[in-house]
Amino acid sequence: MSDLPTSASAPPRAVIAQTIARILERVNAISADGPGFTRPSYSALESQAHAVVEAEAVALGCLVRRDAAGNLFATMPGQNRAARPLYIGSHLDTVSQGGAYDGQAGVIGALAVLTAFHSAGLTPPMDLVLTITRAEESVWFPVSYAGSRAALGRLNPEDFDAPRSDTGLSLAEHMALEGFDPEAVRSITPPEPARFLEFHIEQGPVLHDAGEAYAVVDRVRGGLRYRSAEVHGIWAHSGGAPRASRADAVVALAELILSMDAVWDRFLDEGNDLTVTFGKVDAASPQHAMAKVPGHAEFCLDLRSDQTDTLEAANAALLREVARIEKARPGVRFDLGAQTRPAPAQLSGEMARFVTAGAAAQGDDPRHMLSGGGHDAAAFGAAGWDSVMVFIRNWNGSHCPEEGMDEADLARAVGAVFLAILQEAAG
Ligand SMILES: [Zn+2]
Repeated sequence: MSDLPTSASAPPRAVIAQTIARILERVNAISADGPGFTRPSYSALESQAHAVVEAEAVALGCLVRRDAAGNLFATMPGQNRAARPLYIGSHLDTVSQGGAYDGQAGVIGALAVLTAFHSAGLTPPMDLVLTITRAEESVWFPVSYAGSRAALGRLNPEDFDAPRSDTGLSLAEHMALEGFDPEAVRSITPPEPARFLEFHIEQGPVLHDAGEAYAVVDRVRGGLRYRSAEVHGIWAHSGGAPRASRADAVVALAELILSMDAVWDRFLDEGNDLTVTFGKVDAASPQHAMAKVPGHAEFCLDLRSDQTDTLEAANAALLREVARIEKARPGVRFDLGAQTRPAPAQLSGEMARFVTAGAAAQGDDPRHMLSGGGHDAAAFGAAGWDSVMVFIRNWNGSHCPEEGMDEADLARAVGAVFLAILQEAAG
Protein backbone atom coordinates (compact mmCIF):
# COMPACT_ATOMS: atom_id res chain seq x y z
CA MET A 1 0.00 0.00 0.00
CA SER A 2 1.21 3.51 -0.75
CA ASP A 3 1.13 6.63 1.36
CA LEU A 4 -1.83 8.89 0.99
CA PRO A 5 -1.94 11.54 -1.67
CA THR A 6 -2.05 15.05 -0.25
CA SER A 7 -5.33 15.85 -1.97
CA ALA A 8 -8.38 13.65 -1.62
CA SER A 9 -8.85 10.86 -4.14
CA ALA A 10 -12.27 10.02 -5.48
CA PRO A 11 -13.83 7.00 -3.77
CA PRO A 12 -13.56 3.80 -5.85
CA ARG A 13 -17.30 3.78 -6.42
CA ALA A 14 -17.56 0.62 -8.50
CA VAL A 15 -15.71 -1.41 -5.85
CA ILE A 16 -17.87 0.02 -3.07
CA ALA A 17 -21.10 -0.78 -4.92
CA GLN A 18 -19.94 -4.27 -5.86
CA THR A 19 -18.86 -5.05 -2.27
CA ILE A 20 -22.21 -3.94 -0.86
CA ALA A 21 -24.20 -6.02 -3.35
CA ARG A 22 -22.05 -9.13 -3.01
CA ILE A 23 -21.83 -9.27 0.79
CA LEU A 24 -25.45 -8.28 1.43
CA GLU A 25 -26.53 -11.23 -0.67
CA ARG A 26 -24.19 -13.62 1.13
CA VAL A 27 -25.15 -12.46 4.63
CA ASN A 28 -28.87 -12.52 3.89
CA ALA A 29 -28.60 -16.04 2.52
CA ILE A 30 -28.08 -16.99 6.18
CA SER A 31 -31.49 -16.94 7.85
CA ALA A 32 -34.12 -19.10 9.46
CA ASP A 33 -37.13 -19.77 7.25
CA GLY A 34 -38.95 -16.69 5.99
CA PRO A 35 -40.81 -14.52 5.51
CA GLY A 36 -38.00 -11.99 5.87
CA PHE A 37 -34.73 -12.62 7.65
CA THR A 38 -34.27 -14.13 11.11
CA ARG A 39 -30.93 -14.40 12.89
CA PRO A 40 -31.52 -14.52 16.66
CA SER A 41 -28.99 -12.95 19.03
CA TYR A 42 -26.28 -15.46 19.99
CA SER A 43 -27.56 -18.06 17.54
CA ALA A 44 -25.59 -20.21 15.13
CA LEU A 45 -27.10 -18.12 12.33
CA GLU A 46 -25.67 -14.92 13.80
CA SER A 47 -22.27 -16.64 14.13
CA GLN A 48 -22.39 -17.81 10.50
CA ALA A 49 -23.11 -14.27 9.32
CA HIS A 50 -20.15 -13.01 11.38
CA ALA A 51 -17.95 -15.63 9.71
CA VAL A 52 -18.83 -14.38 6.19
CA VAL A 53 -17.68 -10.84 6.99
CA GLU A 54 -14.69 -12.07 9.02
CA ALA A 55 -13.37 -13.98 5.99
CA GLU A 56 -13.69 -10.84 3.87
CA ALA A 57 -11.77 -8.81 6.46
CA VAL A 58 -9.01 -11.43 6.60
CA ALA A 59 -8.76 -11.29 2.80
CA LEU A 60 -8.18 -7.53 3.10
CA GLY A 61 -5.23 -8.21 5.42
CA CYS A 62 -7.04 -7.14 8.60
CA LEU A 63 -5.94 -8.34 12.03
CA VAL A 64 -9.00 -10.06 13.49
CA ARG A 65 -9.85 -10.62 17.12
CA ARG A 66 -12.99 -11.59 18.98
CA ASP A 67 -13.61 -10.52 22.52
CA ALA A 68 -14.93 -12.89 25.21
CA ALA A 69 -18.51 -12.00 24.22
CA GLY A 70 -17.98 -12.82 20.55
CA ASN A 71 -17.90 -9.27 19.24
CA LEU A 72 -15.62 -9.08 16.19
CA PHE A 73 -12.91 -6.43 15.70
CA ALA A 74 -10.99 -6.52 12.40
CA THR A 75 -8.22 -3.92 12.25
CA MET A 76 -6.78 -2.46 9.06
CA PRO A 77 -3.55 -0.95 10.37
CA GLY A 78 -3.09 2.76 9.71
CA GLN A 79 0.03 4.77 8.95
CA ASN A 80 0.05 6.09 12.49
CA ARG A 81 -0.73 3.18 14.80
CA ALA A 82 -0.74 5.58 17.76
CA ALA A 83 -3.48 7.80 16.29
CA ARG A 84 -6.99 7.37 17.74
CA PRO A 85 -8.57 4.50 15.78
CA LEU A 86 -11.86 4.76 13.93
CA TYR A 87 -14.18 1.83 14.69
CA ILE A 88 -16.92 1.34 12.08
CA GLY A 89 -19.66 -1.23 12.45
CA SER A 90 -23.06 -2.47 13.51
CA HIS A 91 -24.79 -5.81 14.20
CA LEU A 92 -25.86 -8.89 12.20
CA ASP A 93 -28.62 -10.27 14.43
CA THR A 94 -32.18 -9.45 13.38
CA VAL A 95 -35.61 -9.43 14.94
CA SER A 96 -37.83 -12.41 14.06
CA GLN A 97 -38.92 -12.01 10.41
CA GLY A 98 -36.93 -8.80 10.07
CA GLY A 99 -35.62 -7.01 7.01
CA ALA A 100 -32.59 -7.17 4.75
CA TYR A 101 -30.85 -4.05 6.03
CA ASP A 102 -31.24 -3.36 9.77
CA GLY A 103 -27.75 -4.06 11.01
CA GLN A 104 -26.49 -5.62 7.80
CA ALA A 105 -26.21 -2.23 6.05
CA GLY A 106 -23.94 -0.96 8.83
CA VAL A 107 -21.59 -3.93 8.87
CA ILE A 108 -21.36 -4.07 5.09
CA GLY A 109 -20.92 -0.30 4.83
CA ALA A 110 -17.95 -0.64 7.20
CA LEU A 111 -16.51 -3.48 5.13
CA ALA A 112 -16.95 -1.32 2.00
CA VAL A 113 -14.93 1.52 3.57
CA LEU A 114 -12.05 -0.85 4.28
CA THR A 115 -12.35 -2.44 0.85
CA ALA A 116 -12.20 1.02 -0.73
CA PHE A 117 -8.85 1.71 0.93
CA HIS A 118 -7.54 -1.71 -0.03
CA SER A 119 -8.57 -1.45 -3.67
CA ALA A 120 -7.24 2.11 -3.98
CA GLY A 121 -3.90 0.88 -2.63
CA LEU A 122 -4.09 3.37 0.23
CA THR A 123 -3.09 2.94 3.87
CA PRO A 124 -5.57 4.80 6.10
CA PRO A 125 -4.05 7.48 8.34
CA MET A 126 -5.26 5.76 11.51
CA ASP A 127 -6.30 2.18 12.30
CA LEU A 128 -9.73 1.35 10.90
CA VAL A 129 -11.51 -1.27 12.99
CA LEU A 130 -14.43 -3.08 11.37
CA THR A 131 -16.70 -3.90 14.31
CA ILE A 132 -19.49 -6.47 14.39
CA THR A 133 -21.38 -6.49 17.65
CA ARG A 134 -23.55 -9.28 19.01
CA ALA A 135 -27.11 -9.22 20.26
CA GLU A 136 -28.22 -5.70 19.40
CA GLU A 137 -31.90 -6.56 18.90
CA SER A 138 -33.43 -6.55 22.36
CA VAL A 139 -36.45 -8.61 21.29
CA TRP A 140 -34.34 -11.69 22.09
CA PHE A 141 -32.86 -10.73 25.45
CA PRO A 142 -34.52 -7.92 27.47
CA VAL A 143 -31.16 -6.13 27.62
CA SER A 144 -30.27 -3.01 25.62
CA TYR A 145 -27.21 -3.36 23.35
CA ALA A 146 -26.11 -6.59 25.09
CA GLY A 147 -23.15 -7.25 22.77
CA SER A 148 -21.66 -3.78 22.61
CA ARG A 149 -22.17 -3.23 26.33
CA ALA A 150 -20.41 -6.56 26.95
CA ALA A 151 -17.51 -5.35 24.78
CA LEU A 152 -17.39 -2.12 26.77
CA GLY A 153 -17.49 -3.83 30.18
CA ARG A 154 -20.87 -2.27 30.92
CA LEU A 155 -23.26 -5.21 31.36
CA ASN A 156 -24.95 -5.42 34.75
CA PRO A 157 -24.60 -8.70 36.68
CA GLU A 158 -28.33 -9.45 36.29
CA ASP A 159 -28.13 -9.00 32.49
CA PHE A 160 -26.30 -12.34 32.22
CA ASP A 161 -29.41 -14.09 33.59
CA ALA A 162 -31.82 -12.47 31.11
CA PRO A 163 -33.72 -15.24 29.26
CA ARG A 164 -33.90 -15.37 25.47
CA SER A 165 -37.51 -14.93 24.41
CA ASP A 166 -37.70 -18.12 22.32
CA THR A 167 -35.52 -20.62 24.24
CA GLY A 168 -35.73 -19.35 27.83
CA LEU A 169 -31.98 -19.95 28.16
CA SER A 170 -29.99 -17.10 29.70
CA LEU A 171 -27.70 -14.64 27.94
CA ALA A 172 -24.73 -16.32 29.65
CA GLU A 173 -25.88 -19.76 28.47
CA HIS A 174 -26.31 -18.57 24.88
CA MET A 175 -22.88 -16.90 24.93
CA ALA A 176 -21.38 -20.22 26.03
CA LEU A 177 -23.35 -22.19 23.41
CA GLU A 178 -21.76 -20.07 20.67
CA GLY A 179 -18.31 -20.79 22.11
CA PHE A 180 -17.74 -17.62 24.13
CA ASP A 181 -16.88 -17.09 27.77
CA PRO A 182 -19.50 -15.30 29.89
CA GLU A 183 -17.31 -15.52 33.00
CA ALA A 184 -14.53 -13.66 31.18
CA VAL A 185 -17.08 -11.08 29.97
CA ARG A 186 -17.82 -10.17 33.60
CA SER A 187 -14.26 -8.89 33.98
CA ILE A 188 -13.57 -7.90 30.36
CA THR A 189 -10.98 -5.23 29.59
CA PRO A 190 -12.69 -2.93 27.08
CA PRO A 191 -10.81 -1.35 24.18
CA GLU A 192 -9.38 2.11 24.83
CA PRO A 193 -12.19 4.65 24.12
CA ALA A 194 -11.80 5.86 20.54
CA ARG A 195 -14.15 6.85 17.73
CA PHE A 196 -17.18 4.83 16.60
CA LEU A 197 -19.18 5.30 13.41
CA GLU A 198 -22.31 3.32 12.54
CA PHE A 199 -24.12 3.29 9.21
CA HIS A 200 -27.76 2.29 9.71
CA ILE A 201 -31.05 2.54 7.84
CA GLU A 202 -33.21 5.38 9.18
CA GLN A 203 -36.20 3.14 10.12
CA GLY A 204 -38.46 6.14 9.53
CA PRO A 205 -39.82 8.18 6.63
CA VAL A 206 -37.94 11.48 7.05
CA LEU A 207 -35.18 11.00 4.46
CA HIS A 208 -37.37 9.14 2.00
CA ASP A 209 -40.03 11.86 2.12
CA ALA A 210 -37.37 14.58 1.72
CA GLY A 211 -35.61 12.79 -1.16
CA GLU A 212 -32.26 12.69 0.68
CA ALA A 213 -29.90 9.71 0.46
CA TYR A 214 -28.26 9.91 3.88
CA ALA A 215 -27.97 12.02 7.05
CA VAL A 216 -25.70 12.56 10.04
CA VAL A 217 -27.22 11.46 13.36
CA ASP A 218 -26.06 13.47 16.34
CA ARG A 219 -28.36 12.17 19.08
CA VAL A 220 -30.23 8.96 19.90
CA ARG A 221 -33.47 8.70 21.84
CA GLY A 222 -33.38 6.73 25.02
CA GLY A 223 -36.30 4.87 26.52
CA LEU A 224 -38.15 3.98 29.65
CA ARG A 225 -39.97 0.71 29.11
CA TYR A 226 -42.37 -1.52 30.96
CA ARG A 227 -42.12 -4.80 29.08
CA SER A 228 -44.59 -6.87 31.10
CA ALA A 229 -47.18 -4.67 32.79
CA GLU A 230 -50.55 -5.88 34.03
CA VAL A 231 -53.84 -4.49 35.18
CA HIS A 232 -55.97 -6.47 37.61
CA GLY A 233 -59.71 -6.03 38.00
CA ILE A 234 -62.52 -8.34 39.07
CA TRP A 235 -63.89 -11.09 36.83
CA ALA A 236 -67.68 -10.97 36.68
CA HIS A 237 -70.62 -12.04 34.56
CA SER A 238 -71.30 -9.55 31.77
CA GLY A 239 -75.06 -9.80 32.19
CA GLY A 240 -75.18 -10.08 35.92
CA ALA A 241 -72.67 -7.50 37.18
CA PRO A 242 -74.18 -4.02 37.57
CA ARG A 243 -72.09 -1.06 36.44
CA ALA A 244 -71.34 0.20 39.95
CA SER A 245 -69.94 -3.16 41.04
CA ARG A 246 -67.51 -3.57 38.16
CA ALA A 247 -63.73 -3.38 38.19
CA ASP A 248 -63.20 -3.86 34.45
CA ALA A 249 -59.51 -4.28 33.63
CA VAL A 250 -59.92 -3.51 29.92
CA VAL A 251 -61.85 -0.29 30.55
CA ALA A 252 -59.20 0.80 33.09
CA LEU A 253 -56.42 0.04 30.61
CA ALA A 254 -58.26 1.92 27.86
CA GLU A 255 -58.51 4.92 30.16
CA LEU A 256 -54.78 4.75 30.87
CA ILE A 257 -53.96 4.53 27.15
CA LEU A 258 -56.10 7.54 26.27
CA SER A 259 -54.84 9.59 29.20
CA MET A 260 -51.21 8.86 28.26
CA ASP A 261 -52.02 9.86 24.68
CA ALA A 262 -53.18 13.21 26.09
CA VAL A 263 -50.02 13.44 28.22
CA TRP A 264 -47.95 12.88 25.07
CA ASP A 265 -49.83 15.63 23.25
CA ARG A 266 -49.21 18.02 26.15
CA PHE A 267 -45.49 17.20 26.29
CA LEU A 268 -45.13 17.90 22.56
CA ASP A 269 -47.03 21.20 22.95
CA GLU A 270 -44.52 22.16 25.63
CA GLY A 271 -41.65 21.54 23.21
CA ASN A 272 -40.39 18.22 24.57
CA ASP A 273 -39.19 15.26 22.52
CA LEU A 274 -41.33 12.23 23.44
CA THR A 275 -43.03 9.15 22.03
CA VAL A 276 -45.60 7.05 23.91
CA THR A 277 -46.47 3.57 22.62
CA PHE A 278 -48.54 0.79 24.14
CA GLY A 279 -46.97 -1.84 21.90
CA LYS A 280 -48.89 -4.86 23.18
CA VAL A 281 -52.35 -4.97 24.69
CA ASP A 282 -53.45 -8.48 25.51
CA ALA A 283 -56.93 -9.23 26.75
CA ALA A 284 -57.27 -12.47 24.81
CA SER A 285 -56.10 -15.16 27.20
CA PRO A 286 -58.23 -18.34 27.48
CA GLN A 287 -59.82 -16.73 30.55
CA HIS A 288 -61.27 -13.87 28.50
CA ALA A 289 -64.64 -14.50 26.88
CA MET A 290 -67.72 -12.87 25.45
CA ALA A 291 -69.82 -13.22 28.59
CA LYS A 292 -67.22 -12.04 31.10
CA VAL A 293 -66.24 -8.67 32.53
CA PRO A 294 -62.44 -8.79 32.13
CA GLY A 295 -60.56 -9.15 35.39
CA HIS A 296 -57.08 -8.95 33.93
CA ALA A 297 -55.10 -7.58 30.96
CA GLU A 298 -51.44 -7.48 30.03
CA PHE A 299 -49.66 -4.70 28.18
CA CYS A 300 -46.30 -3.12 27.50
CA LEU A 301 -45.42 0.56 27.40
CA ASP A 302 -42.49 2.16 25.58
CA LEU A 303 -41.66 5.80 26.40
CA ARG A 304 -38.84 7.37 24.34
CA SER A 305 -37.14 10.76 24.39
CA ASP A 306 -33.77 12.37 23.70
CA GLN A 307 -33.81 13.77 27.27
CA THR A 308 -33.65 11.79 30.50
CA ASP A 309 -35.56 14.57 32.31
CA THR A 310 -38.44 14.21 29.86
CA LEU A 311 -38.56 10.44 30.40
CA GLU A 312 -38.66 11.02 34.16
CA ALA A 313 -41.45 13.57 33.81
CA ALA A 314 -43.46 11.29 31.50
CA ASN A 315 -43.00 8.43 33.95
CA ALA A 316 -44.19 10.65 36.81
CA ALA A 317 -47.26 11.53 34.73
CA LEU A 318 -47.85 7.81 34.13
CA LEU A 319 -47.73 7.04 37.86
CA ARG A 320 -50.16 9.91 38.56
CA GLU A 321 -52.60 8.58 35.93
CA VAL A 322 -52.33 5.07 37.36
CA ALA A 323 -53.08 6.35 40.87
CA ARG A 324 -55.99 8.47 39.61
CA ILE A 325 -57.57 5.56 37.70
CA GLU A 326 -57.10 3.14 40.62
CA LYS A 327 -58.85 5.64 42.92
CA ALA A 328 -61.70 6.27 40.48
CA ARG A 329 -62.24 2.55 39.83
CA PRO A 330 -62.22 0.58 43.09
CA GLY A 331 -60.99 -2.98 42.59
CA VAL A 332 -58.62 -2.00 39.76
CA ARG A 333 -54.90 -2.32 40.41
CA PHE A 334 -52.01 -1.76 37.97
CA ASP A 335 -48.77 -3.68 38.29
CA LEU A 336 -46.26 -2.06 35.91
CA GLY A 337 -43.50 -4.61 36.56
CA ALA A 338 -39.80 -4.04 35.94
CA GLN A 339 -38.44 -1.09 33.95
CA THR A 340 -35.63 -1.12 31.41
CA ARG A 341 -34.06 2.22 30.61
CA PRO A 342 -31.67 2.61 27.68
CA ALA A 343 -30.21 6.10 28.21
CA PRO A 344 -30.54 8.86 25.59
CA ALA A 345 -27.22 9.58 23.90
CA GLN A 346 -25.76 12.83 22.68
CA LEU A 347 -23.39 11.75 19.94
CA SER A 348 -20.15 13.52 19.08
CA GLY A 349 -20.24 16.96 17.47
CA GLU A 350 -16.65 16.44 16.35
CA MET A 351 -17.56 13.19 14.61
CA ALA A 352 -20.62 14.81 13.02
CA ARG A 353 -18.32 17.47 11.55
CA PHE A 354 -15.94 14.71 10.39
CA VAL A 355 -18.69 13.04 8.34
CA THR A 356 -20.07 16.36 7.12
CA ALA A 357 -16.64 17.34 5.78
CA GLY A 358 -16.33 14.09 3.86
CA ALA A 359 -19.83 14.55 2.45
CA ALA A 360 -18.99 18.09 1.35
CA ALA A 361 -15.95 16.75 -0.53
CA GLN A 362 -18.34 14.87 -2.84
CA GLY A 363 -20.81 17.74 -3.07
CA ASP A 364 -23.32 16.52 -0.45
CA ASP A 365 -24.84 18.47 2.42
CA PRO A 366 -26.53 15.87 4.64
CA ARG A 367 -28.94 17.06 7.30
CA HIS A 368 -28.31 16.40 11.00
CA MET A 369 -31.08 14.47 12.70
CA LEU A 370 -32.26 12.50 15.71
CA SER A 371 -32.46 8.72 15.85
CA GLY A 372 -35.72 7.45 17.29
CA GLY A 373 -34.44 3.91 17.69
CA GLY A 374 -31.59 2.83 19.94
CA HIS A 375 -28.35 1.64 18.35
CA ASP A 376 -24.93 0.35 19.31
CA ALA A 377 -23.54 3.85 18.67
CA ALA A 378 -25.48 4.98 21.77
CA ALA A 379 -23.73 2.34 23.88
CA PHE A 380 -20.32 3.48 22.64
CA GLY A 381 -21.30 7.12 23.24
CA ALA A 382 -22.44 6.31 26.78
CA ALA A 383 -19.04 4.69 27.42
CA GLY A 384 -17.23 7.91 26.54
CA TRP A 385 -16.44 7.21 22.90
CA ASP A 386 -16.78 9.89 20.20
CA SER A 387 -19.68 8.28 18.45
CA VAL A 388 -21.75 9.17 15.39
CA MET A 389 -24.26 7.52 13.06
CA VAL A 390 -24.94 7.90 9.37
CA PHE A 391 -28.55 7.18 8.49
CA ILE A 392 -29.39 5.73 5.10
CA ARG A 393 -32.75 6.54 3.50
CA ASN A 394 -35.18 3.62 3.66
CA TRP A 395 -38.84 2.82 3.15
CA ASN A 396 -41.51 0.40 4.35
CA GLY A 397 -40.33 0.95 7.92
CA SER A 398 -38.04 -1.53 9.60
CA HIS A 399 -38.08 -4.81 11.55
CA CYS A 400 -40.28 -6.26 8.79
CA PRO A 401 -39.63 -8.30 5.63
CA GLU A 402 -40.62 -5.33 3.44
CA GLU A 403 -37.84 -3.08 4.81
CA GLY A 404 -36.43 -1.25 1.76
CA MET A 405 -33.12 0.50 0.99
CA ASP A 406 -31.30 1.54 -2.19
CA GLU A 407 -27.77 0.14 -2.12
CA ALA A 408 -26.65 3.25 -4.05
CA ASP A 409 -27.58 5.41 -1.04
CA LEU A 410 -25.39 3.32 1.26
CA ALA A 411 -22.58 3.48 -1.32
CA ARG A 412 -22.88 7.28 -1.40
CA ALA A 413 -22.56 7.45 2.40
CA VAL A 414 -19.58 5.07 2.31
CA GLY A 415 -17.95 7.44 -0.19
CA ALA A 416 -18.46 10.34 2.24
CA VAL A 417 -16.76 8.46 5.08
CA PHE A 418 -13.92 7.36 2.79
CA LEU A 419 -13.34 11.02 1.89
CA ALA A 420 -13.62 12.12 5.52
CA ILE A 421 -10.82 9.73 6.45
CA LEU A 422 -8.68 10.92 3.55
CA GLN A 423 -9.26 14.54 4.51
CA GLU A 424 -8.08 13.83 8.04
CA ALA A 425 -4.85 12.52 6.53
CA ALA A 426 -4.47 15.59 4.34
CA GLY A 427 -5.41 17.98 7.15
ZN1 LIG B 1 -30.14 -2.13 13.99
